[in-house]
Amino acid sequence: MRTKMVAANWKMNKFLVEGLQLASDILVSLEKNPPKHPVVICPPFIHLADLQRLFKETSYIHLGAQNCYYADSGAFTGEISVPMLASLGVRYVIAGHSERRQIFCETDEIVSRKVKAILLHGLRPIFCCGEPLAVREKNQHFSFVEQQISASLLPLSAEEISSVTIAYEPIWAIGTGVNATPQQAQEMHAFIRSLIEKRFGNTIAQNMTLLYGGSVNPANATSLFNQTDVDGGLVGGASLKADDFVKIIRALA
Ligand code: PEP
Repeated sequence: MRTKMVAANWKMNKFLVEGLQLASDILVSLEKNPPKHPVVICPPFIHLADLQRLFKETSYIHLGAQNCYYADSGAFTGEISVPMLASLGVRYVIAGHSERRQIFCETDEIVSRKVKAILLHGLRPIFCCGEPLAVREKNQHFSFVEQQISASLLPLSAEEISSVTIAYEPIWAIGTGVNATPQQAQEMHAFIRSLIEKRFGNTIAQNMTLLYGGSVNPANATSLFNQTDVDGGLVGGASLKADDFVKIIRALA
């Protein structure tokens, strides 16, 4: 069965006290009426231990990380490995976010290694893909996303791909206040699902969770999430306000 989900990407925001307050506010608000779909919160690394303690009794909230390195340990100054994340109760790890690809020069090869490492240690990648504005303007967005998926996901085994969540995040929509229209999101999600189907078959494709990310907010969440192939969202800016984030969670039917 396809799992619907809303995931928060706090990015590099919130000091320790603020992050704990935000997480507590989300928890208190959700506890009044627990959501029927899982919620994933991906804070900066410094919050993971506190949030693990806060959420340990809450079955519907899972901890995620925004990044990882692909080696298990060693001389990799500044990096955090997947086993380290696992030891903190992290269940999901974002891989291939456009900010990591662009600002930190992560290639398809690096993203693929991260995806493999996440799977090897029994965690779940949230694999991000999506085109820049110039590519969409040239009407090459389908081939661009196909290339990202072909490089990192199509080489996986059927068992591995079944643990992957894909987030389609058009770069022109991230943090801009300009979301993809529900129709644009739907057509790309249907295309991504068709790529998965061609390689892994219908059952795996139908069971795959496909999130939309890019300026999701309480006003547009329902129309985006109502699309047949949109199974929830990866939310940046709007996940930093408990009220907005909870409204987005509630928009997922
Ligand atoms: C993101 O960066 O993953 C994201 C979706 O950001 P925002 O919601 O702020 O566009």
